[in-house]
Amino acid sequence: MRKYIIMGPQGSGKGTQAKMLARDFDLVHISVGDIFRWHVQNRTKLGTKVQRYMKEGRLVPDEMVSEVVKWRLEIHDWRCGFVLDGFPRNAAQTEFFLENYDIDAVIAIELPEEAAIMRMQSRRLCSSCGLDYNLIQLRPKVPDVCDNCGGRLVPRPDDTPEAIRARLKDYREKTQPILDLLREKELIVRVDGTPPPDVVQAEMRQRLGLQVGVDELPETVGAPD
Ligand code: ADP
Ligand code: ZN
Repeated sequence: MRKYIIMGPQGSGKGTQAKMLARDFDLVHISVGDIFRWHVQNRTKLGTKVQRYMKEGRLVPDEMVSEVVKWRLEIHDWRCGFVLDGFPRNAAQTEFFLENYDIDAVIAIELPEEAAIMRMQSRRLCSSCGLDYNLIQLRPKVPDVCDNCGGRLVPRPDDTPEAIRARLKDYREKTQPILDLLREKELIVRVDGTPPPDVVQAEMRQRLGLQVGVDELPETVGAPD
């Protein structure tokens, strides 16, 4: 069983990295942000409560977050483990997590703030299928049109300059300090988030002791040459 948490500033590519890891090691990718976005889109009771926080780039109150995480982890739909993305983000959430769950490692993707801002400003989402684009690295073939479904590409509602600033400030002030706490427990695996996604992924796997190439099957780990 592999249970990981992935952390990093907004724009560090943690969602992308979590998906790559989950795909090849048969882990369930649990994104707290995606769960909240689902609630907003489907106009649930929770969705109407969290919408304002998200749009302004503020952290959703801890009770709502813990409730969602607890509910999601109780589904227990994984066979090989999970990658939890977007939680914990402050001291209270970390305490709740450490008291209730066992994890193998916390992957911390590091990226300078200027690079994070650039990436968020160039990020676009397909308004129909939700696919992620980046006007610097992952450009669509036709400007503003999704390669996958032809949908219109739009910025994320919380990628406005004000919300970006607020989110990075929260990361610096609330999330960064918990990395120290986790470091004491020797759970942290640091990875440089500056290189292209596959390079970041390879470094991450090496540090986690997952010695497999992106296209190999996990079963080949440790097999003789
Ligand atoms: P980002 O990491 O770029 O902020 P996410 O998709 O992970 O994007 O999260 C989007 C928003 O959802 C956050 O800005 C915040 O409002 C809310 N959110 C997600 N995870 C948490 C959390 N653990 N605690 C509080 N709010 C959260
Ligand atoms: Zn699309």
